[in-house]
Amino acid sequence: MEIAMVCTRVNLLILILSLCSPYKFIQSPMDFGPLNLLPTTTAASSDFVAARGAGHSIHGQAQALDGIVVDMCSLPSEIALYRGGGGGGGGGDISYADVSGGAMWIELLEQSLKLGLAPRSWTDYLYITIGGTLSNAGISGQTFKHGPQISNVLQLEVVTARGETVTCSPTKDAELFNAVLGGLGQFGIITRARILLQEAPQKVKWVRAFYDDFGTFTKDQELLISMPDSVDYVEGFIVLNEQSLHGSSIAFPANMAFNPDFGSKSSPKIYYCIEFAVHDYQYKNTNVDQVVEAISKQMSHIASHLYSVEVSYFDFLNRVRMEEMSLRSSGLWEVHHPWLNMFVPKAGISDLRDLLMDNISPDNFEGLILIYPLLRDK
Ligand SMILES: Cc1cc2nc3c(=O)[nH]c(=O)nc-3n(C[C@H](O)[C@H](O)[C@H](O)COP(=O)(O)OP(=O)(O)OC[C@H]3O[C@@H](n4cnc5c(N)ncnc54)[C@H](O)[C@@H]3O)c2cc1C
Repeated sequence: MEIAMVCTRVNLLILILSLCSPYKFIQSPMDFGPLNLLPTTTAASSDFVAARGAGHSIHGQAQALDGIVVDMCSLPSEIALYRGGGGGGGGGDISYADVSGGAMWIELLEQSLKLGLAPRSWTDYLYITIGGTLSNAGISGQTFKHGPQISNVLQLEVVTARGETVTCSPTKDAELFNAVLGGLGQFGIITRARILLQEAPQKVKWVRAFYDDFGTFTKDQELLISMPDSVDYVEGFIVLNEQSLHGSSIAFPANMAFNPDFGSKSSPKIYYCIEFAVHDYQYKNTNVDQVVEAISKQMSHIASHLYSVEVSYFDFLNRVRMEEMSLRSSGLWEVHHPWLNMFVPKAGISDLRDLLMDNISPDNFEGLILIYPLLRDK
């Protein structure tokens, strides 16, 4: 098992460094003509070419020094949906979407929900592109169950460095397919992806439970990911101070009576929050409250500090948008800040937590530290 950690913090130095960026210009693919993304040549061009999705990558990966940046979002966004008899659940006749590389996940969600379908694996934030996350991995609270987004792709259409358009899959040009997925745009440009879909739940029971002990927190996270038949999403975060409690709760519409004592500057007290979700397929006649109760009885959170709320599937998946809007309204969304993602083996997670706490001052830390478990075999 691995623990994924996402850490962000405001830092002026990053802003100064980015202002000194050596990257030159952005070229729209429409300038080449919509059907002629790259001119076909027999030899690779000496120019650097990079695809740019929504441009959220943090280290210039969507830039090309002295080269050409292809703005994928300026290509027409196309989404074609296919509903199979098997509902995407692994039967012979599966449901899928053919989506252009520059389309955003939020667009795919909106379109697929019209057919009662949705992709199985997500990122927390949906205003990023299909090509951008498939060039990384795309992880979130569903990864323990369905694997990252790159494990939920049936086929890709890729423009290679030779300017050839190749349709590849696990059985056709598999080497290219596997190189492009998670390939940071180094093996070709994804112009279309076939994404596996499943039946979408109408609603989601979204639960938060609080802890004052790190070992109990991670043990309960492991318990939750051992129940993939009942649990559909697992994440968690460190509650360092009032800001991390309230900043992370903007989209969580429950009335929480959790008023922790954060201790003093010399002796801070740290808390942890597990977030999990259970899908509510209303036609299945499953009592989701009973499912959540049965799960929570096995958990060891601080007594009486478990809160749950039922929201639409769309609102649940789009929860970070509310945080974005809140940050935008106070001018904080565009502020450059560090962002660190780490995969930590289970054996090292306690040491990492101690290292973090030795180096972070809870009283002035702003941002989010997410910690949640993944399974290696996914
Ligand atoms: C608020 C926020 C929350 C996030 N949460 C999560 C999360 O929960 N889980 C997670 O996994 N990630 C998360 N991310 C990170 C996100 O997945 C990456 O930053 C991703 O790269 C963003 O996609 P993009 O469209 O901005 O890609 P870009 O930054 O534009 O590109 C990313 C990389 O992919 C390449 N690329 C882009 N498009 C294509 C294409 N069509 N073909 C080939 N290569 C291409 C680029 O050259 C670059 O190397 C989050 C980001 C933000 C801003």
